[in-house]
Amino acid sequence: MKADSRVHITPHMHWDREWYFTTEASRILLVNNMEEILTRLEADEAYKYYVLDGQTAVLEDYFAVVPENRPRVKALVAAGKLIIGPWYTQTDTTLVSGESILRNLMYGIRDCQPFGEPMKIGYLPDSFGMSAQLPHIYNGFGITRTLFWRGCSERHGTDKTEFIWQSSDGSEVTAQVLPLGYAIGKYLPEDEAGLRKRLDDYFEVLEKASVTKEILLPNGHDQMPLQQNIFAVMEKLRDIYPQRHFVMSRFEEVFDHIDAHRDRLATLKGEFIDGKYMRVHRTIGSTRMDIKIAHARIENKIVNSLEPLASLAWTLGFEYHHGLLEKMWKEILKNHAHDSIGCCCSDKVHREITSRFELAEDMADNLTVFYMRKIVDNMPQSEEDKLVMFNLMPWPREEVINTTLRLRASQFQLRDDKGQVVPYFIRAVREIDPGLIDRQIVHYGNYEPFREFDI
Ligand SMILES: [Zn+2]
Repeated sequence: MKADSRVHITPHMHWDREWYFTTEASRILLVNNMEEILTRLEADEAYKYYVLDGQTAVLEDYFAVVPENRPRVKALVAAGKLIIGPWYTQTDTTLVSGESILRNLMYGIRDCQPFGEPMKIGYLPDSFGMSAQLPHIYNGFGITRTLFWRGCSERHGTDKTEFIWQSSDGSEVTAQVLPLGYAIGKYLPEDEAGLRKRLDDYFEVLEKASVTKEILLPNGHDQMPLQQNIFAVMEKLRDIYPQRHFVMSRFEEVFDHIDAHRDRLATLKGEFIDGKYMRVHRTIGSTRMDIKIAHARIENKIVNSLEPLASLAWTLGFEYHHGLLEKMWKEILKNHAHDSIGCCCSDKVHREITSRFELAEDMADNLTVFYMRKIVDNMPQSEEDKLVMFNLMPWPREEVINTTLRLRASQFQLRDDKGQVVPYFIRAVREIDPGLIDRQIVHYGNYEPFREFDI
């Protein structure tokens, strides 16, 4: 067998918060796994690294029930042993908007800060395809490296697993693809026959496709506890494959080697949704349309209505409610995890997803009304009723607007802030129950009817 590759064994676990199981089911495993991980990292100098799946929602789920372990996590992150972030959740990249992807990174990186530095790799080991614009978003956060599995084949322009990936604005990241997935090194057997059966074929595929011959063998899988006997396995690997160098490593070390050989790498552009070697689950685009529609509506409400309104209010001197916005974002970002928004979960999980969307939408609707009221209440006082339009586009607009007014009058005039008459016509008018507006006056009987005008 030919020669000389370095095999980087990186301990990790991939964390689907929910899928065919609920978040509460996975949280129980998480509490157990985390204790093992922390204990091993603290006690064993040689057990150098553990990658916490590139998402901080795992930590949030953990600290919600084991808050007393924050100092232990902080110490291990500071020591460079426990590797956290940069995402908040393991997001889908083709069903959610660019703004959602960006917020996922923003909140993830922020959540890392009390503990230490986030992993500066766009790490999406399981997401079902990669959006073409990811390098642009990564560069915006100072991230110049990405590691993923699904969607790539030689049909994109190289048969190598390392390449430069460029988005349409020219942003670039160094990409490392996991051609056989993130779990090829899970529960490695300790005996020669078992190891050969697993790895003989894998090594050949990995080495053939590698420019640098720096091979990744991620040691972990979905929700799996860490492999306690990994050093015994590594000793055996050294016996069986003397031409290969086995090290416990973190992903950054592999990228350091790749970046040193940038001149030998191909440059690829575009999205990765090729299913030649792995499933990319394109059918997730049409699963559970009720959830997909709710997702699109709420994402649109927050990004295109509420946040511009909040910014407008802030420029007028009102508070920008970062905490409320973060909470509603985090509710929907949990739903943006690949299995969750993929809607390939159990019905019970889909109900939980729906309830997070309901919570976020309720928050968004109420905060929108709050900001509109605040702004209107603080306008100059006037004897007349106010009809206020909010232009949430970043440019002036002149257009016909449809709206509905409720008035205790049969006639009215609209005037702008300079007293100029604004033309309108009535599309429909209805008399409405005055009790809807003022129950008191119903008792007196003698009042002008209330009318609702569509103008
Ligand atoms: Zn997954």
